[in-house]
Amino acid sequence: MRNTEPELTEKEYRGRLKDRKRIVVKIGSSSLHHMSTGELNLTKMERLVRELCELKNQGKDVILVSSGAIAVGKKVLNIAPTDKEVPVKQACAAVGQARLMMIYQKLFAEYNHTTAQILMTKHTIVDDINRHNAHNTFTELLKLGVIPVVNENDTVAIHEVEDTIGDNDFLSAVVSNLVGADLLILLSDIDGLYTDDPRSNKNASFISFVDKLDDVMDMGKESTGSNIGTGGMSAKLHAATVAVNAGTDMVIANGKDVSVIHKITEGRYYGTLFKSCRDDGFDIADYIERM
Ligand code: GLU
Repeated sequence: MRNTEPELTEKEYRGRLKDRKRIVVKIGSSSLHHMSTGELNLTKMERLVRELCELKNQGKDVILVSSGAIAVGKKVLNIAPTDKEVPVKQACAAVGQARLMMIYQKLFAEYNHTTAQILMTKHTIVDDINRHNAHNTFTELLKLGVIPVVNENDTVAIHEVEDTIGDNDFLSAVVSNLVGADLLILLSDIDGLYTDDPRSNKNASFISFVDKLDDVMDMGKESTGSNIGTGGMSAKLHAATVAVNAGTDMVIANGKDVSVIHKITEGRYYGTLFKSCRDDGFDIADYIERM
């Protein structure tokens, strides 16, 4: 059964984002790296961490879903970004994830916040006991005031191999579902949803507010415009399906400037806002199993 709210204007709905209490933010590899060198953009990471600490200081629960393990590992091990061999990527993920966490922990500690690493696979969700345990861990960490930093466990589950949750856009929607988040912010390399790919169609127009997901489902385009990370617009719409059904509002926004995070949570007009429409019958384990 769907929990439908009375019709609100975009202005009214955006204004409500100020009151969101449990926020998941997803940042992708392409937003974390310098495109020219493939090195981490530390200034940006620092700004991202500051934004998240500020949300935390406002009394909100914050979860970060960060990609970058494989890209960082490749850089550390001097492996070409184009190398697609699965064991190589898995080894890179193992090295890169540790490096990434080291940097996040250092940055969050500067603002007196504690982080925790949570690595998930498809089994974390489809297996009832695993899902229950993961839910308990998230709940306890948030109760303790910790900021969980989440990624897929790419060392054991990888995109080319079955049994992966998929891309981190989808993972962040799954996490939102698991923890009962009321806002998910997907930081992308594009301002939000357009009627067509604005890189190839100058007439594409920006969509600021999606009241009903069905109206926009065929607008997702496969390409991201970048060659690191995964997850084009269709992946984001796939994530939106899970978020919206789980009762989580979702915003896709440009991660070029991470100050967009506080602008969104102040109710300002940034990114594309997907209005949630909770479906009590929506079962995330079942949904993933059927994918
Ligand atoms: N889990 C992958 C990584 O950390 C990224 C997946 C994605 O960007 O969707 O490298």
